[in-house]
Amino acid sequence: MSEAHLLQDIFTRRFHYVRLSITDKCNFRCQYCLPNGYECKSPQKSLSLSEINHLLAALVELGIQKIRLTGGEPLLRKDLVAIIKTIKQYPQINSIALTTNAYKLHHILDECIDAGLTHLNISVDSLDEDNFADITGSNKLKTILNTIDYALDSPLQQVKINTVLLKNTFAELGQFLSLIKKQPLDIRFIELMETGDNQPFFQENYLAAHILQDELLAQNWQAVIAPENSGPAKMFAHPEYNGKIGIIAPYSKDFCTNCNRLRFTHLGALRLCLFGDDSFSLRHLMQDATQKEDLKNAIINLLVNKPKQHLLSKNIHGDVINFSQIGG
Ligand code: SAM
Ligand code: SF4
Repeated sequence: MSEAHLLQDIFTRRFHYVRLSITDKCNFRCQYCLPNGYECKSPQKSLSLSEINHLLAALVELGIQKIRLTGGEPLLRKDLVAIIKTIKQYPQINSIALTTNAYKLHHILDECIDAGLTHLNISVDSLDEDNFADITGSNKLKTILNTIDYALDSPLQQVKINTVLLKNTFAELGQFLSLIKKQPLDIRFIELMETGDNQPFFQENYLAAHILQDELLAQNWQAVIAPENSGPAKMFAHPEYNGKIGIIAPYSKDFCTNCNRLRFTHLGALRLCLFGDDSFSLRHLMQDATQKEDLKNAIINLLVNKPKQHLLSKNIHGDVINFSQIGG
């Protein structure tokens, strides 16, 4: 196998993309994720900057080219800018992305961009202030929308909105579409996923992605062929809109066929499937630079455990309590 494809699993899926959770803490209380707010469940500290650096050194030699920082809420890390600068030191990484609720991003967005941030996903589940506050526990919708406008005028390569598809968000489809009529802003609707913590909410609010897809097709949106290795979103475009719509439908058949990502939790465990039962702790191999080869070999050897597909359609969501805990 060539050096660039060292990370290939037994189903010939290749991995160039890592989602790295840098904290499990969050200041929002999204009803599907942390309805009671963040509660500290473990005395262990999140990966330090130095541990992250050792992990990155191994990942780039395994062919990883894209890192997405996630959480919990990554903005709660005081050294977020330093983490981005550390990633930027590796020329093999051509995409440094951040998924955030953006509640105070306006204070440090310029610094993040100067440090090397290239892609930004901001989560917005409602465009109505009351609904937004109801879902997230935060009254910062206006500030967040202003930050999106600012980000669109910045040198970032891409700005996207992530919206969890709920019955209520579907009811707001018209508002979401108006937002992207003039702006070159993509919205990715993510099907609500069941976790250990959100079962009653899931039962009440889940809306199957095909209902949104049917509505878009009825409104003359057309499916766009996604570039190879572009991940699981099905994309839709419309000649009268500058922004595109993506639909991420984890309950659909074949969702896992094109899986192109690996995950590391904020405690340094490799998570091969979001909905698996296993996290493999590799933190002990991130303590100094001399461990790089051992860390690389451990990651390669663990890949054999990556399942062909998750079992969400059978209501089996693995040991995920909520996404904040493992990095969604
Ligand atoms: N706090 C950041 C944020 O909200 O963008 C980053 C972490 S959050 C876990 C990452 C993404 O996962 C967010 O877009 C969030 O809406 C989504 N998410 C969390 N729980 C989910 C669930 N049960 N089903 C679908 N998406 C979920
Ligand atoms: Fe926090 Fe993101 Fe979870 Fe909302 S989805 S509670 S912002 S981690």
